[in-house]
Amino acid sequence: MSFWDIVTLTTRFSELPKAFYTPIDPQPLSNTRWVTWNSDLAKHYGFPDKPTDELLQAFSGQAVPKQFAPLAMKYAGHQFGVYNPDLGDGRGLLLAEVASKSGQVADIHVKGAGLTPYSRMGDGRAVLRSSVREYLCSEAMAGLGIATTRALGLMTSDTPVYREKQEYGALLIRMADTHIRFGHFEHFFYTNQLDQQKLLADKVIEWYFPECAGQENPYAMMFNQIVDKTALMIAQWQAVGFAHGVMNTDNMSILGQTFDYGPFGFLDDYQPEFICNHSDYQGRYAFDQQPRIALWNLSALAHSLSALIEREDLEQALNQYEVQLNGYFSEMMRKKLGLFTRLPEDGAIFDTMFELLAANKVDYTRFFRQISMLDKAKPQEVIDLFLDREQATQWLDSYIARCERELNSEGEPVSTAQRCEKMRQVNPKYILRNYLAQIAIDRAEEGDFSELERLAELLKKPFDEQPHNEHYAKLPPEWGKTLEISCSS
Ligand code: AMP
Ligand code: MG
Repeated sequence: MSFWDIVTLTTRFSELPKAFYTPIDPQPLSNTRWVTWNSDLAKHYGFPDKPTDELLQAFSGQAVPKQFAPLAMKYAGHQFGVYNPDLGDGRGLLLAEVASKSGQVADIHVKGAGLTPYSRMGDGRAVLRSSVREYLCSEAMAGLGIATTRALGLMTSDTPVYREKQEYGALLIRMADTHIRFGHFEHFFYTNQLDQQKLLADKVIEWYFPECAGQENPYAMMFNQIVDKTALMIAQWQAVGFAHGVMNTDNMSILGQTFDYGPFGFLDDYQPEFICNHSDYQGRYAFDQQPRIALWNLSALAHSLSALIEREDLEQALNQYEVQLNGYFSEMMRKKLGLFTRLPEDGAIFDTMFELLAANKVDYTRFFRQISMLDKAKPQEVIDLFLDREQATQWLDSYIARCERELNSEGEPVSTAQRCEKMRQVNPKYILRNYLAQIAIDRAEEGDFSELERLAELLKKPFDEQPHNEHYAKLPPEWGKTLEISCSS
């Protein structure tokens, strides 16, 4: 009996009409071998905790199990604000869906699996460099508790792939609750296939939003859910300091999961206008633009749903976006500062903090972690992060005075130790700084995957003190602050 008879697979997407996809097998790479395997995620879905040759052959297309139904999804989308009808899985394939023991169904997708009808000018491949970045970042986001696609495993090969220089073809096995993007709905709208769009909406409700089924206005409810989940995801990005870099509508999951990691970056110094994508000349996807762009993307989705949902309902849902985003974000920021009750002076404390962080180019992650250590370390260590020590001292004094007025749910004062303990659960010590990813990539390109493994392990527990890993919490060296990440992947 093959392993594939034991896990619970479905191929429900492949049962949709052909207008949704093109069936196609992965095109094997040469001398494919494992780089890494995500044992924890594997076990969750009933896969072996060690990567095997059978798994390698199945995922890489050397021996596609009969239980798979590999296909390239068709979608479209707005790229940098311009509609592009010609998108789709140009190098990725959905192989099948797998159910965990608890019944959670996830897509098994391979990225870098060869040409498809949607490859346009591309070669259908992904290089090791960008695949390592996606692997590490999606796992880092999961560790931070942020909704995201996941990485089950990564392979490399001897197949040459040409970017700015010659690199090697890699294959990332990506898992996600869905690979349906805003662009799926846009495709059916702009090609006037409204019956297919309705079918897509019905399936999305059946699979992902069953609570909307049978309600008076199921499609409007579905859209409300998409708005809400997107608002939550964006609030999480802004709170942790994550810039996605390519927020095109084809990179927006309908489940609000962080999707398609390209030239992303975490903030080092707090620079609201930080642009992580070297090709984003206008700063359309700058860090501080993300909330606005997500609304733009939701409006594009709303427009494409206008045959299914009343205009009023769409507008109402879009109007809720800002309210939801602000609600989520302010709750997260309160937790980051350990302020659980609301007092009138809080607004000024937050505003001044952001101003000072930006003016003094303070490291965003280090600041919040350091301020979560006031029970163990001296206030001086927070002040030392600022150039303008006088202003920093003033702000810190007002913050500490404010904390002293903090009361718990029983109306009792909250001790510094209690507050800091809670703050450390939301202010990570370890994030995937660009330079850390770069070191792991450089080693991986030399055939040494141990740094990638160490980083992936470290980032599973970003909130824990990990004394043996202290050096990973260091500020970036000068070379690591100026790395430019291109779209080429
Ligand atoms: P991305 O910028 O990775 O979100 O990709 C945008 C579109 O280009 C999607 O339709 C991708 O499938 C396609 N694409 C990106 N890179 C390649 C490639 N190397 N070969 C074929 N298609 C690609
Ligand atoms: Mg994409």
